[in-house]
Amino acid sequence: MKHFPIFLSVQDKRIVVSGGGDAAVAKLRLLLKTEARIVVYAIDASAEIQDWAVQGRLTLIRRPLEAGDVAGAALLYAADEDDLLDAHVAWLGQEAGVLVNVVDNLEASGFITPAIVDRDPVTIAIGTEGAAPVLARAIKADLEQRLPQSTGVLARLGRAFRPLAEQLPKGRARRAFWSDYYFRAGPLALEQGQEALAPALETLLSDHLAAGKRPGHVDLVGAGPGDPELLTLKARRVLHEADVVIHDRLVSTEILELARREAVIIEAGKTGFGPSMPQDQINALMVEHASTGAHVVRLKAGDPTVFGRLDEELDALTEAGIAWRIVPGITAASAAVAQIGQSLTKRGRNGAVRFLTGHDIKGFAEHDWRTLARTGEVAAIYMGKRSARFLQGRLMMHGADPLTQISIVENASRADSRVVATTLADLPTALEGVDGPAVLLLGLAPRAALQTVSEIFQAKELAL
Ligand code: SAH
Repeated sequence: MKHFPIFLSVQDKRIVVSGGGDAAVAKLRLLLKTEARIVVYAIDASAEIQDWAVQGRLTLIRRPLEAGDVAGAALLYAADEDDLLDAHVAWLGQEAGVLVNVVDNLEASGFITPAIVDRDPVTIAIGTEGAAPVLARAIKADLEQRLPQSTGVLARLGRAFRPLAEQLPKGRARRAFWSDYYFRAGPLALEQGQEALAPALETLLSDHLAAGKRPGHVDLVGAGPGDPELLTLKARRVLHEADVVIHDRLVSTEILELARREAVIIEAGKTGFGPSMPQDQINALMVEHASTGAHVVRLKAGDPTVFGRLDEELDALTEAGIAWRIVPGITAASAAVAQIGQSLTKRGRNGAVRFLTGHDIKGFAEHDWRTLARTGEVAAIYMGKRSARFLQGRLMMHGADPLTQISIVENASRADSRVVATTLADLPTALEGVDGPAVLLLGLAPRAALQTVSEIFQAKELAL
């Protein structure tokens, strides 16, 4: 991030614009939405600027900007659309220690003006650091459409009501009240007109005060294989609502960013190997937080019901009398098989598929090797890297063909994912250098004509 977004206090401060043409007008349209005092320096000012001056919305001074004019200003815009003049104005500003924006000149600017969606006091600023103005405009258009004009009205009354809402205990109860207001009761009341809003807020507050302290609960949520787009809508929502998020180490940072900024985020480092938090401690953490009334999300990689020690967690919660709910997710095997363009089952090949773990609490896991060794069998092997030699030995011992196809899918669905196509005979060698989490797809080779979207794009670019 080369530019840090902030909201600058400009009420009653002076903002200076040098220039009277189109560039100045475009900036002034935005600046006039603020409560700043706007001063424009221009010998030739467009009719629009002159009108604004007549209406008293800005002060127009019909001469070029001079050294003494910018001292103490909050911001300065160099909008003369003339490189030399703009550079001079920028220099005057810098000398006076004022933040300067040179219109359409990123390098010369100390700040840039974002695209803005205005539902005052709700303001959304969109920036692309000058990289993609078209994208910024598209995002703005999208948000304009999505945010009803009433957002501003709701927020204005909400602001006035904040001191009253302090009767509710801080934290979860207060948040529940506000979210009820903004997403349900507020919009509903507005349908009857703005006058209905204040009484509706009062009723809502007394309802929430009466509801008292709600008990906490735990959502055991599948975070999917890594790509945030593979989260379910429900997972996304509960993640956004959670007070506390206890996550496995495999859960990607992009997904954790979907939690509220105020949420307590705890890593219960559970990878197959390496340092990890004992299960008892994870259970105790969930119980401890939920007992204080918190909404806890226990975020687990993939699907929580697949090799996730889910039952131990559910038992602990049940024993402590804490309500829970399971939110399923996309398991690594589904993401892995999608990546090689195959399906887990296929008519005439395999009518069953097994999900195996390479190791369990007792060490390398034993399975029905005789069945697995048969031609056409398909299995998704989780946590199979360390046990590769053991798996290979057991399968060969039970008569598996050494040329049985295996696809190793590392970091499935993530940007750094990798597929290694190998055979049972070569499995241990093929796994060398596979450091990320990987699923071994026994009995499946990547589809021969597999083309990824990026390969198709690349091919198209080359052809152009
Ligand atoms: N509950 C998870 C599995 C947890 S066990 C699920 O449903 O996916 C951890 C194992 O899952 C890892 O050792 C690896 O075998 C597999 N795994 C998890 N995420 C993966 C990913 N993005 N790509 C490949 N394998 C993954």
